[in-house]
Amino acid sequence: MPKSPRTTSLAEKISGRNLTDASFSRKLEAQIAAKADDFANKLFGMSLQSKGRVILLLSAFAFGIQSASAISWFFPVSKFFLRRLTGSNTTGVALTFDDGPDIAFTPKILEILDNAGINATFFMLGEMVERNPELAREVADRGHQIGIHGYEHRNHIFRSPRTVAYDFAKAKDIIEKTTGTTVTLARPPYGVISIGTIFAARKLGLSLRLWTSWGRDWRKRANPQSVLSDLVRHGVDKGCILLHDSDCTSSPGSTWSTIGALSSLIEYLAQNDIKVVKL
Ligand SMILES: [Zn+2]
Repeated sequence: MPKSPRTTSLAEKISGRNLTDASFSRKLEAQIAAKADDFANKLFGMSLQSKGRVILLLSAFAFGIQSASAISWFFPVSKFFLRRLTGSNTTGVALTFDDGPDIAFTPKILEILDNAGINATFFMLGEMVERNPELAREVADRGHQIGIHGYEHRNHIFRSPRTVAYDFAKAKDIIEKTTGTTVTLARPPYGVISIGTIFAARKLGLSLRLWTSWGRDWRKRANPQSVLSDLVRHGVDKGCILLHDSDCTSSPGSTWSTIGALSSLIEYLAQNDIKVVKL
């Protein structure tokens, strides 16, 4: 299938050459292997000839990165050690919504945010943007920040670096073309960062953002009260709040809990003089 001019432009940005998808993936994989070898050289002062040792090193590195992601879920730790990644270096609190845009829920969330005069960040899925292009454009037109959550909602730890890179590039391309914005923020599905996530984000000029507080609004048992109390318990004075504007990857109907909690959350922030900021 012929590539669009925009996709070609992204591939060129990554590889420095006009490449097909398959050769782009091979090129990226080669770049990652070269970087790993360079990293090993710096670390051990010797060249790694053995493919097995390179794989071992990559695995250890990926495990380390994965551990960083897990650590980010321990909120007190994340606030001290992962300020930039979690958004806790902000002067107020940022509201973020993942997995949309969804025709069933996103318009209601936009309405609540509009009524409160608040802007949020929407980490969109490429395949949801393809399904609801006008809604994606509307989110951007209303002044909200757009980030990418991937094209498909799949855990990066189980995907190869080249697949992750292709997924992010495809999502970035679709989201930028549809919304008319330049996307610089990304949040991988489940907040899981693999070595592929790191390299893909770097090549595409994306900054990774996780969160400092979540409402666990994806659960079947979630309700507006539980979402609000989970958020407050984890801290909403500053940092980054994770919510969802779609149930496409979680329990069906769970996003009603998000919508039910959102007005109360905004009221809580106002009563406590907590500023809502962009990421
Ligand atoms: Zn998600």
